[in-house]
Amino acid sequence: MNTEITEQVKKLLASPQKIVVVGHKNPDGDAIGSCLGLSFFLNRLGHKADVIMPNDFPDFLKWLPGCDDIIIHDKDTDKSIEAINNASLIFTLDFNALNRTGNMEQFLEDCDAKFIMIDHHQEPDDYAVVTYSDSTMSSTCEMVYHFIDAMDELGSLCLEVSTQLYTGIMTDTGSFRFPSTTAKTHRVIAHLIEVGANNSQIHQKIYDVNSPDRMKLLGVALKNLNILPDYNTAYITLSQKELDKHNFKKGDTEGFVNYALSIKGVKFAVIFIENKQDKIIKMSLRSKGNFSVNTLAREHYNGGGHTNAAGGRSTLSLSETISEFISILSQYKIELTDAS
Ligand code: 5GP
Ligand code: MN
Repeated sequence: MNTEITEQVKKLLASPQKIVVVGHKNPDGDAIGSCLGLSFFLNRLGHKADVIMPNDFPDFLKWLPGCDDIIIHDKDTDKSIEAINNASLIFTLDFNALNRTGNMEQFLEDCDAKFIMIDHHQEPDDYAVVTYSDSTMSSTCEMVYHFIDAMDELGSLCLEVSTQLYTGIMTDTGSFRFPSTTAKTHRVIAHLIEVGANNSQIHQKIYDVNSPDRMKLLGVALKNLNILPDYNTAYITLSQKELDKHNFKKGDTEGFVNYALSIKGVKFAVIFIENKQDKIIKMSLRSKGNFSVNTLAREHYNGGGHTNAAGGRSTLSLSETISEFISILSQYKIELTDAS
């Protein structure tokens, strides 16, 4: 975090503030970990910080310190609106466009609070008075660590915050294996472990809590795997019927797309998940190397994210989405088949 941003933030936090910390819709480990970590830190500094998420988050995160106090906007709308309207400062974490906050968007746009963005996605929107945006960072949790460092407060790191931040860095880096994981990331992680984060226990709590239903749904996903060798591409589909049959719960399909990407020679992988309620096909896109799924998701699927991990959606039917996808791929054939 540069000195200009640091000075701006220090000024905004010079006296106790009413603060709201917001993550994106369908929050993941990084969104939940960074919002909780930052809110604990701000409360320690003497501010009053509430965490709000647009909608519910997966069960495998529901042991994190402080997670029971998170306000879920879609469930507790009045409380959420009251906190937003009373806030003098709103931190938006792990996203960079207000349309990523679902039903909260309008309330955030209409409120009088000043916004501070902390985020590692590309192409940030311009709604914040302070934009701490760095797309080279592994995770927003790593950025919250650097934020605390910039405030000269690393000495205040506690067991809770180290656990929250460790969790988000671990989940957003695929357990420290994505290219965004740097030596600096590992130094941050080392410090978080020194302060108390129990790395092995956190890993188990996140990854060794599969339900039998989820494992069987993974079996269906792998059966539905399709490979397009001409494009070094693999994709998976899951219909609403298949999800229903396996009592789908939020978070159950997390990571499925990585099995498609793990096939030798595959550079680009997508999972298409039918959501009959929202009348969309939700897509998770992943790539290896220089092929930018962020660009493809922005150009065709009203989405975005990072070079190697992005999300998007289609409003066509599942089969139409697949046909369209295959026709779109021809535009990217050279990028997908070059040797890099
Ligand atoms: P996932 O596929 O796990 O939902 O998301 C992968 C990455 O893309 C995450 O960093 C997520 O924040 C981002 N992402 C997912 N969906 C969208 C979207 O609709 N718009 C944008 N801009 N980013 C997204
Ligand atoms: Mn993230």
